[in-house]
Amino acid sequence: MASTGTAHSDVIVIGAGLAGLACTADLLRAGLTVRLLEASDAVGGRMRTDTVDGFRLDRGFQVFNTSYPQVKRRFELSTLMLRPFTPGMLLEHGGRRVRLGDPTRRPGPSADLLPGRFASARDLGALALLSTWDLLAPAALLRRGPETTTREALSAAGISDGLVESFFRPFLSGVFLEDSLETSSRFFHLVWRSMLRGSLCLPAGGIGAVPEQLAAALPNGTLRLEAPVLRLEDTGVVLGDGTELSADALVVATGARDARALLPGLGSRAAEAPRRTTTRPRTHHWPNRHSWWTGAAPCSTPPS
Ligand SMILES: Cc1cc2nc3c(=O)[nH]c(=O)nc-3n(C[C@H](O)[C@H](O)[C@H](O)COP(=O)(O)OP(=O)(O)OC[C@H]3O[C@@H](n4cnc5c(N)ncnc54)[C@H](O)[C@@H]3O)c2cc1C
Repeated sequence: MASTGTAHSDVIVIGAGLAGLACTADLLRAGLTVRLLEASDAVGGRMRTDTVDGFRLDRGFQVFNTSYPQVKRRFELSTLMLRPFTPGMLLEHGGRRVRLGDPTRRPGPSADLLPGRFASARDLGALALLSTWDLLAPAALLRRGPETTTREALSAAGISDGLVESFFRPFLSGVFLEDSLETSSRFFHLVWRSMLRGSLCLPAGGIGAVPEQLAAALPNGTLRLEAPVLRLEDTGVVLGDGTELSADALVVATGARDARALLPGLGSRAAEAPRRTTTRPRTHHWPNRHSWWTGAAPCSTPPS
């Protein structure tokens, strides 16, 4: 395929959400030439902030956890001007509002944490043990631990069905975007660890400041907005306006539905992807197309 008017690049990355931005930065750091193509008018994908009548509106409720390993690795936190939330939760329980603070960060009496108010002494003990282990254990150990579902891991930790239903399921279903708690137990322990260790914050400029910081670090000319990729070819991509761009390799860093449109071979695996998250990134490689799709996906074998 002949490229029209633009130089050939080693890699074309499709989609300038967090995954595409991070992937582009890593490939550039490895010395490759990269072109990042984004269909919409700005970077960020699911993490964007719109300004309406002077108000900053995030698309969906997003929070930024300072202890995620990739956050520490990739971001200049001081320039994001992070505003922390008070660590704790407000739950509807038995017809009343229960305020659960984190006693390790805000010491002091918390009546709702007294045994029998919200949870039994046995449940509170099991929760304290689980949290202490996840807080102190090295992340590598949690990643290698036995892999079951989150539901099974909570039960194995001695958490009662009652506490799962009143606390863990409503809370974690908002984090995992599934309410059967079938997400990998390894992922649960890593998320729980991050929540215990980090602060949940929002940048002063809204969540969109996060991808914008990654984009600002890219060399001029790397990113092209309003460049929807229509289809993949053996030697590159074709954009919506018919422009052909060539590259040795392609990375599809879109959401699952868009990835399936570009790579029909993904079939239903892409649609299932958000249902179960594993600790191992799933990478599909089509040898003849030199293209990859990466994302969270069901994992039948334990991550190495
Ligand atoms: C409501 C909500 C709340 C969330 N809350 C949190 C939270 O609190 N904390 C947290 O860490 N995460 C949260 N997440 C998850 C987080 O937003 C996503 O995991 C992350 O943004 C996904 O990034 P991505 O790059 O994989 O995909 P996306 O953000 O979906 O980016 C894909 C990009 O590809 C582009 N694209 C698609 N097709 C094409 C094409 N053919 N050609 C070119 N470009 C294309 C899209 O326009 C998009 O910009 C939340 C998600 C949602 C929806």
